[in-house]
Amino acid sequence: MFLLRIFPLSIPSSQSTISSMKPTLVCLFAHPDDEAFGPSGTIHAFTKMHDVYIICATNGDAGENHHPAGGTIDLGHQRKSEIIESSKVLGVKKVFFLEHKDGELSNNKYQTIATECRTILDDLRPQILLTFEHRGISGHIDHVFMAMVTSFLYERLSYVQEAHFYCLREDQHNKKPGEYFIYFPRGYKESEVDKTVDITKYLAVKKAAISKHISQTKDMKNILKSLRTKECFYIFKKDK
Ligand SMILES: [Zn+2]
Repeated sequence: MFLLRIFPLSIPSSQSTISSMKPTLVCLFAHPDDEAFGPSGTIHAFTKMHDVYIICATNGDAGENHHPAGGTIDLGHQRKSEIIESSKVLGVKKVFFLEHKDGELSNNKYQTIATECRTILDDLRPQILLTFEHRGISGHIDHVFMAMVTSFLYERLSYVQEAHFYCLREDQHNKKPGEYFIYFPRGYKESEVDKTVDITKYLAVKKAAISKHISQTKDMKNILKSLRTKECFYIFKKDK
């Protein structure tokens, strides 16, 4: 007997978990803005052929607040709404929040957060996971943590075939450590990069997604000034 699946006519583009026939990709990020300031061109490209979801471990409430309303806003709440708006621009189906404290992802939360991610992933059964590289791009420990959790889940979940780690090539890595970051890891050599995505045609979408992070205006302006047309990844891939 054939079961007919009936889809509602109107599916909210950013908050749906109704599965389609497309393969699924899940991004695992630490903060609201990692998706936009990071590999948003590639995320948008993936939405053309995949159902794309984001798991966001924290609500970013320890970040700087440059929102025009200043201290009158609840920063965590504001930043959650910013990543939801950014995800709508990118074509992401839904953002899942784990509600952990920004800046406090550490060893003693590995198993808890891996289990929380796994519960969501078991439902979505993605073929691909995507996150920041293992040095966390900027050296942010929260980013490193999510790379570790992603690697752990990649190794244990049989339905996951690939894990894509967003990285900067040495020539893209021109930042100097500020006061916040005590060490800025080096960029990657060309030989260490498995995939380079030319996002030239998605730059307008990337800018639009970045611009949704109103409370992060300072970082936003810096990133918009030096937008790159290439997004690089190294990839873990299982033998078929
Ligand atoms: Zn971040």
